[in-house]
Amino acid sequence: MSTHFDAIVIGTGQAGPSLAGRLAAAGMSVAVVERKLFGGTCVNTGCIPTKTMVASAYAAHMARRAAVYGVNVDGNVSVDMVRVKARKDAVSGNSRTGVEGWLKGMKNCTVFEGHARFESPREVRVGDNLLTSDKIYINVGGRAVIPDMPGLDHVPYLTNSSMMAVDFLPKHLIVVGGSYVGLEFGQMFRRFGSEVTIVEMGPRLVHKEDEDVSAAIHGILENEAISIRLNAKCIAFSRRGDETVVHLDCSDKSNEAVGTHVLLAVGRRPNTDDLGLEKAGVAMDSRGNIVVDDQLRTNVPGIWALGDCNGKGGFTHTAYNDGEIASANLLDNDPRRVSDRILAYALYIDPPLGRVGMTEAEVRRSGRKALICKRAMTRVARAVEKDETQGFMKILMDAETHLILGASILGVGGDEVIHSILDVMYTKAPYTVIQRAVHIHPTVSELIPTMLGELQVL
Ligand SMILES: Cc1cc2nc3c(=O)[nH]c(=O)nc-3n(C[C@H](O)[C@H](O)[C@H](O)COP(=O)(O)OP(=O)(O)OC[C@H]3O[C@@H](n4cnc5c(N)ncnc54)[C@H](O)[C@@H]3O)c2cc1C
Repeated sequence: MSTHFDAIVIGTGQAGPSLAGRLAAAGMSVAVVERKLFGGTCVNTGCIPTKTMVASAYAAHMARRAAVYGVNVDGNVSVDMVRVKARKDAVSGNSRTGVEGWLKGMKNCTVFEGHARFESPREVRVGDNLLTSDKIYINVGGRAVIPDMPGLDHVPYLTNSSMMAVDFLPKHLIVVGGSYVGLEFGQMFRRFGSEVTIVEMGPRLVHKEDEDVSAAIHGILENEAISIRLNAKCIAFSRRGDETVVHLDCSDKSNEAVGTHVLLAVGRRPNTDDLGLEKAGVAMDSRGNIVVDDQLRTNVPGIWALGDCNGKGGFTHTAYNDGEIASANLLDNDPRRVSDRILAYALYIDPPLGRVGMTEAEVRRSGRKALICKRAMTRVARAVEKDETQGFMKILMDAETHLILGASILGVGGDEVIHSILDVMYTKAPYTVIQRAVHIHPTVSELIPTMLGELQVL
């Protein structure tokens, strides 16, 4: 027995639910399939729980710094991890049940709970149910990469998912991977009270960022007594008593870090390996990402891939935007495209890094004539008032068109301030527009126009 729907949405991450909502509201019969937790990575094991925990870590950090502000906190500041986790579970859980309740109560929408696999380009099996449709949207997301490193099979380790169950303070957390996920967890647990070591294979942290950004982040973390071990070219694992040894150099056995817990944060892989894509004839690239065009169509007519599984985004906002692109193309006769999107994201250490567009290194490599401005957060009144002066702001412009090419705002409020630049980039207006804007005092954003009056040739 098979059931036909006007559309099938596989996965309830950041693209699927809103897309299902639009399709169902347009009168289409929609099947939504979820194999595990409604809301996917962001809601359950990614953005929402981590940023909730980052907020707890910030509170602990500020409590320890209270005297700087003339505030007395009597006694030691300590963190109750059971309550930190309970708070995180409540915020994340509200979001999950919100998505689940919305989909299950949605007119024209039928929710199937189970693992979806293609049986043909028009058929998807979920347990005993065979669903058929001419329009299938894949939104299956990704999961943590478990690297093929010697000894890993013989030691316990955590990932971003299993970290969600941690309701105790690891004595010494070793984070393998010095990029976005690893740095957020590393700083967070240091602030909770763990000793933290970050092990990175490359010569610097967050290697996709400019060298000055990496160096500033390195300094911010070291200021909190986080140990950073770079150039760990050959990582292996073993047990010593109750502890885990992370070997950093296969030719030098003494080069090691020893801790009570290990978190693997070395990247993500798409959930495309057990989806029956071969039965549908859907093409993937060498990393397992589903190959899509600028409007998210796969090579098989009637099948689209949205979110992390298409390798075109990697963020919640890009996955959500994929859903908007798909619905606009289908329902609004609006040919929205992935290439309309400007790269933008944040790294939620404290202070955060807000990023848009090209890095300075990319601008230099492009060979175009460019202008740059840079300001330390020590020269930003609002940051001084808050006594949060680590980091800097940097903006790059095309010297001929005067369009903004990119920016890095590493500093207090950087995740919000970056939007004043991003929005100008979307308008395709020259930087002189924002240079003449009168921003509110005292804010970090008020220095953006000032900086744009202090340009130098790159
Ligand atoms: C620790 C961490 C922190 C992050 N922080 C941020 C952040 O601050 N900001 C940001 O923008 N991004 C962040 N991200 C990334 C963000 O979470 C993802 O980019 C986003 O969730 C991707 O959404 P998605 O819709 O592609 O897939 P997902 O959210 O991964 O959802 C996919 C869904 O599909 C389901 N599924 C998979 N296979 C099947 C199947 N065969 N059948 C049925 N269902 C299936 C899964 O169970 C899941 O519910 C973070 C990620 C991590 C790991």
